[in-house]
Amino acid sequence: MNELLANDMQSVAALMHMTQQQGVDFFQNLAARPTSVQADITLADRLPETGLGAAGALQHFNTKFEPLIVGSSGPRYWGFVTGGATPAAIMGDMLAGFYDQNTQSVKGQGDVSANIELETIRQLLDLFDLPRDFLGGFVTGATLSNFTCLAVARQWIGRQQGDDIARDGMVDGIKILSALPHSSTIKSLSMLGIGSNNIIRIKVQEGNRESMDMEDLQYQIAQLHGAPFILIASAGTVNTVDFDDFKAIARVKAAYDCWLHIDGAFGAFAACSPAHKQLLEGWEVADSITIDCHKWLNVPYESAFFLIREKHKVLQTETFQNSNAPYLGNPLDHFSYLNFLPENSRRLRALPAWFTLQAYGKKGYQDIVTHSIAMAQLFSEYVEQSGFLDLLAPTRLNNVCFTLKGREQQDRVQDFLVALNATGKVFMTPTVYNGWKGIRASFVNWRTTPQDIALVIEAMESVKP
Ligand SMILES: *Cc1c(COP(=O)(O)O)cnc(C)c1O
Repeated sequence: MNELLANDMQSVAALMHMTQQQGVDFFQNLAARPTSVQADITLADRLPETGLGAAGALQHFNTKFEPLIVGSSGPRYWGFVTGGATPAAIMGDMLAGFYDQNTQSVKGQGDVSANIELETIRQLLDLFDLPRDFLGGFVTGATLSNFTCLAVARQWIGRQQGDDIARDGMVDGIKILSALPHSSTIKSLSMLGIGSNNIIRIKVQEGNRESMDMEDLQYQIAQLHGAPFILIASAGTVNTVDFDDFKAIARVKAAYDCWLHIDGAFGAFAACSPAHKQLLEGWEVADSITIDCHKWLNVPYESAFFLIREKHKVLQTETFQNSNAPYLGNPLDHFSYLNFLPENSRRLRALPAWFTLQAYGKKGYQDIVTHSIAMAQLFSEYVEQSGFLDLLAPTRLNNVCFTLKGREQQDRVQDFLVALNATGKVFMTPTVYNGWKGIRASFVNWRTTPQDIALVIEAMESVKP
């Protein structure tokens, strides 16, 4: 055995203790970490001939990179839609590394990890109050979840006209209808060979909304003259967290031949807020749903899941079967994730979610979600009464979309945001909404407190134009 490896194994307990202590220090002092850094680093392009040993690697990391790690999982990182991690989720994440399972099949002489994943999915269905006839699995993010769901939708479309796209390749004329699909959905359409341009855009509702205009949807469906289509709906748009009208969409789905996909990457968590869950009414008829865990479930990256109705199991295996390896058997004989999603080998990605769900339960997630919404409201109230800012849309759930007050200030928005982020106290991201340059602040981190809002307000006042 390599000598360095043997030495490390000798002192593994001390090494792990040291590493864990470093992680805990980071976790406990996260709020003090700057939310951005100016890094000027030189990247090594040579691999040392002999290694440093694990302790040496840690020391090297601590000299070179550790001071530059930002507090993106902390309470004032409001850019994109960035969640943090709960203590229990990190425990699960650490153990997933130690156990190093290859999570695939449920039965037979394999390991138990796929059962842990299936149990996590069942409990998530309960958290979101969804019917149990969904088959779910974990992927790296909502992008891959959208991809997985739309890959099966593509197979469904083909089968409606007698084609097997998974086997024979693409066919022309796949109809995709959507109002404001997330950028990752558009990316998925290009990866799937459907084409990112191939979306029939439904108008959005009047009155500062980002949701589908149902009359225009009816009109566009009529233009298809009975052809099957894929309808991509939003449970939470990224700018203003608007929701499509799922009750009306459910009626459309009952009347036409369509695959309904819902992207609820973070908006699905409205199900955990008694005051907002009606936004999702009707979504349970979906053929497929995307939900992220590394956002509002507050587990470490990379974690999301897809839900696809069990009745589409054959389409799903047609799409993802790995059956050109004869020793792996017939994919429908016994369930293995190998034949139901893009990856073959995969880690026990569900474990952080499993841990945090057991640790905090339904009540814990109701508390996290309602608290995030309250923090968004608090910040939104500041924007409204600040005198120099304006909301670009009402704060419907957990994102605040705003800008500097007045058209004449539009040229200053970018500089204001750069100066604000440079304080290192907070991080927000730019956007464009309704022809306005704007700024987004998104609240999904369990740690954010009213004191954090006060700190950010102070920073904003200090750099206002
Ligand atoms: C974040 C997000 C995605 C993409 O998710 P990743 O986890 O970054 O891959 C897709 N859809 C919506 C609505 C999102 O908010």
